[in-house]
Amino acid sequence: MANKTPITVAHGDGIGPEIMDATLHIIEAAGAQIEPETIEVGEKVYLRGISAGIEPSAWESLRRTKVFLKAPITTPQGGGYKSLNVTTRTTFGLYANVRPCVSYHPFVDTKHPIMDVVIIRENEEDTYTGIEYRQTNDMMESLKLISRPGSEKIIRYAFEYARANNRKKVTCFMKDNIMKITDGLFHKVFDEIAKEYPDIENESWIVDIGSAKLADTPEAFDVIVMPNLYGDILSDVAAQIAGSVGLAGSANIGEQCAMFEAIHGSAPRRAGQNLANPSGLLLAAVMLLVHIDQPDVATRVHNAWLRTIEDGIHTYDIFEEGISKQKVGTKEFAEAVIARLGQEPQTLKAVHYVSAPKQETKEQVERTRVESKKELVGVDVFLDWSEHDTEKLASILQKANGDGLELKLITNRGARVWPNGLSETFTTDHWRSRFLGEGLVNHAQITALLQRISESGLDFIKIENLYNFDGQAGYSSVSGA
Ligand code: NAD
Repeated sequence: MANKTPITVAHGDGIGPEIMDATLHIIEAAGAQIEPETIEVGEKVYLRGISAGIEPSAWESLRRTKVFLKAPITTPQGGGYKSLNVTTRTTFGLYANVRPCVSYHPFVDTKHPIMDVVIIRENEEDTYTGIEYRQTNDMMESLKLISRPGSEKIIRYAFEYARANNRKKVTCFMKDNIMKITDGLFHKVFDEIAKEYPDIENESWIVDIGSAKLADTPEAFDVIVMPNLYGDILSDVAAQIAGSVGLAGSANIGEQCAMFEAIHGSAPRRAGQNLANPSGLLLAAVMLLVHIDQPDVATRVHNAWLRTIEDGIHTYDIFEEGISKQKVGTKEFAEAVIARLGQEPQTLKAVHYVSAPKQETKEQVERTRVESKKELVGVDVFLDWSEHDTEKLASILQKANGDGLELKLITNRGARVWPNGLSETFTTDHWRSRFLGEGLVNHAQITALLQRISESGLDFIKIENLYNFDGQAGYSSVSGA
C-alpha cells in the first residue's frame, strides 16, 4: 500500500464537525491515502484569549504536513479577533485562491445552466497588504502593491491549472486603462506568460465590463485570473450566480503549503441536527486530493458526488419538490455518495483529474528577474495644507526651487491645479507638488529640498521619488501637464 500523506484537519465550529466527519468518511471510503492530524481552531480558541484563533502549537502540525483541510469557524462577535484565514494565508504565503463556480442544471436551481468557471485570485498583494495611512485631516491612503514576481506566480499558476484540468482558455481581468502602472504590469505579465502556453486560448478584459459579461454570460468564460481585490469580489459573485454557494469549495495554494475549505460559514443555527450539506467541504477535499497527487481518488469522489446530486438525493438547502427525489441529512448524504463510488454521472459532465500543477520554486521565479537601469529624476512631495489658494501654494513652493530642482506641477487628488488650473476644481487638504531635476538627481538634493520646504512653514507628509527605468518614466503622468 502507498505511504499515507499526513494532513492537518480542523473540525471548526457550528456545522463544521458534522460536514468534516462526512467528508473524511467519504474520501477514506474512496481509498484516500491520508493520515489526518486534528488541530483546534476557531471560536473556543478565540474565547480562550488567543486573538489569531489558532493555538501556537497547531502551527507545528501545519508546518510539518503543509496541507490543511479546514471546516468553517465562527468568529465571535466584537472586535479584537484576527481573521484565521488571513493569518494562515500570510504566514504560509498562500498566493493563489482557486474557486471553481459550477452550476448543476437541471438538478440544482440556477440562473445560468451552463456555467463552469474557475476564478483564480491573487491572494497576497494589491490593496490587501493592509498598508494604510491617515495623512491629513481629510485624507486616508491605502497602498496598492503589484509586483512582477507576484503577478508571474499567479498567472503561471492559472495557466498550469488550465493545462492540468483540461481547460481551454484563461482570461485576465484588470483595469489598466486607469491604473496603467500596477494593473498595467499585471496585464503585461499575462501577455508574456500566455505566449508560453500556445495550447491555451487567452484574452483580457477590463474588469468592469468583464464582470458585467461574467454576470450575464458566464458560459463565455473558463479560467479567470485577477488581482486580489477584483478576485475577492468576483469569486463571490461567480459562486452566487452559479447558484451553488453551499456547494462550492476553494483552495489557497502556496509554494510550500495549501489550505482547502468550503466557501460558506459555520451556519450555527443548523449545527448538531444532521442537516448540513457537506458538499462544499467535500469538493474542497477533492482539490486537496489532487494537490497531494491522488487524482484517481479525487476523480472517484467527485464523480460519485455528481451522480448523487443527479440522482436527486439532496440535503434541505438544495432540496426542491419536483426536481429532488429524496431529502436526506448529512450522514445519509455521505452514505449515498459512498454507495456511488465507482459510478459516473449520466447527464452532468464527468470529471477526470490528473496530477496537480507543478509548483514554481523561488529560484525559478527569481531567475526571470530582469534588472532595469534605474535613474532618479525628481520627487513628488505631498503636503497637508488646509487653504485653497493654489497660486499662493505655488508661490511658497517656488521659493524652495534651486539646487537643480524646480517645481513643475501641483495636483489635488490627481487633478492638475497648477500651472493653468481651473477655479472649478474641488480641492482637499491633500496636495502633491512635483519637482523635477534638470538632469539626474541625488538623495542630497531631495533632502535639501525637503529642508527648504519645511523652513517655508509647509507640512510635507510624504514623498515619492520619481525614477526612470531604462529611460521610461516609472511614475504616472498627469494629463494636461
Ligand atoms: P453561513 O455561510 O454560515 O450561512 C449562510 C446561510 O447558508 C445560512 O442560512 C446557513 O444555514 C446556510 N448554509 C451555509 N452552509 C450550509 C451548509 N453547508 N448546508 C446547509 N446550509 C448551509 O454564513 P453566516 O451565517 O453569515 O456566518 C456564520 C458564521 O460563519 C459567522 O461566525 C461567520 O464569521 C463565519 N464564517 C466563517 C467562514 C470560514 O470559516 N471560512 C466563512 C464565512 C463565514
